Amino acid sequence: MFVDQAKIKIKAGDGGDGAVSFHREKYVAAGGPDGGDGGRGGDVVFQVDDNFSTLIDFRYKRKYVAQRGENGGARNCTGKSAPPLIVKVPRGTVVRDAKTGRIMADMSSDEPKVLARGGQGGKGNVHFATSTRQIPKFAKPGFPGEEFEVSLELKLLADVGLVGFPNVGKSTLISVVSAAKPKIANYHFTTLTPVLGVVRTDEEKSFVMADIPGLIEGAGDGVGLGHEFLRHVERCRLIVHVVDVSGIEGRDPKEDFEIINGELAKFNEDLAKRPQIVAANKSDMATEEQISDFRQFIEEKGIPFFCISAATTKGTQELIGKVAEVLDTLPPIKEYEAEPIPQAELDEMLGVDKKFEITVEDGIYFVDAPWIQPIMRTVDPDDYSSLQYFQRVLINSGIIAKLEEMGVSEGDTVDIEGFEFDFVY
Ligand code: GDP
Ligand code: MG
Repeated sequence: MFVDQAKIKIKAGDGGDGAVSFHREKYVAAGGPDGGDGGRGGDVVFQVDDNFSTLIDFRYKRKYVAQRGENGGARNCTGKSAPPLIVKVPRGTVVRDAKTGRIMADMSSDEPKVLARGGQGGKGNVHFATSTRQIPKFAKPGFPGEEFEVSLELKLLADVGLVGFPNVGKSTLISVVSAAKPKIANYHFTTLTPVLGVVRTDEEKSFVMADIPGLIEGAGDGVGLGHEFLRHVERCRLIVHVVDVSGIEGRDPKEDFEIINGELAKFNEDLAKRPQIVAANKSDMATEEQISDFRQFIEEKGIPFFCISAATTKGTQELIGKVAEVLDTLPPIKEYEAEPIPQAELDEMLGVDKKFEITVEDGIYFVDAPWIQPIMRTVDPDDYSSLQYFQRVLINSGIIAKLEEMGVSEGDTVDIEGFEFDFVY
């Protein structure tokens, strides 16, 4: 079964908990705190694997959870961080946040992408000793790992997409110009799976052609078979529109041509504007008059026209030559950019209108604001822009203003949800 859509849950590992422990040595009484920090939870990382060509595995396994970090230990031992969980997907898989539809990643290149980040480990009690609190009997729990429901959509990566009514000869064409071996039969809807074929144009050059299952009228509205497959045309740089010029099945080639283009436009306006080449197939069965009539109709529209017979391979090399020539002038295959988080969600994360409480204990300012946790666990203290972002969160939520109002001064310790900072202006 060809499966090109799936919805799964991914969850990065939680951070390990910080430890509560006190230094012990023979004959030495009451040592200081030495509980270490928890380790970081594992990330969920997506990676392209060309051994997969469908998303079928994700129909059976729907939850992917990375391991949590180890807890901290005595003698200042930091818990081990958990390894990333690698999720393998077919090339061309577009990953979206199921809740908002935001594109999180386009798995088209070999570069692995972190889609859910593991939580930081909690601090051990070694961090919580102060001059008046010498026996801190508490440590902090690890932070939760990020968690998303994501939808996966496979959008094949092909330079050229073959489109046309069922039975016009698309599968036959790809089978004679590439090594692909799709099913060919004289009835409609034989091709239920898009088939990719590599077409060699010379020693060094090649392009990828996709045989897209037959489109039928109404496909663009989601009626019947075909619309499901249109997503695979979306990335194609060039469309080869295959038409049965012989009208052997009682069809009119001009009408077929218009109907298919109508369906493409209905699905996505962009598709209708995609460069096309028309391949008038089954010319071996057509009359001279049928061919010249159709040729004129297409050429008047300024579209390149090729008269072929896929069955006898007549004219197919000329068609391929033109395809290669046009491809050379076109931009590379579209990759989707990961989309930024929408403003509303960002406001939410930036803490606009968020509640918090600040208490002072032993000269430390404790900020109680559970909503800030998901932000904190992703802040990288070694990265300037990441810290700046965090700073903005603190300002937007009013935490900084409140601290100042409470009389915080340079160098004071501020504890935000278990993380300690020196206050600096
Ligand atoms: P698809 O549904 O568009 O993939 O069409 P197929 O490639 O499966 O072909 C449908 C039927 O048309 C098959 O019986 C093919 O043998 C036949 N066919 C394909 N190309 C030609 C051609 O150039 N000439 C003739 N006479 N028949 C063809
Ligand atoms: Mg076919």
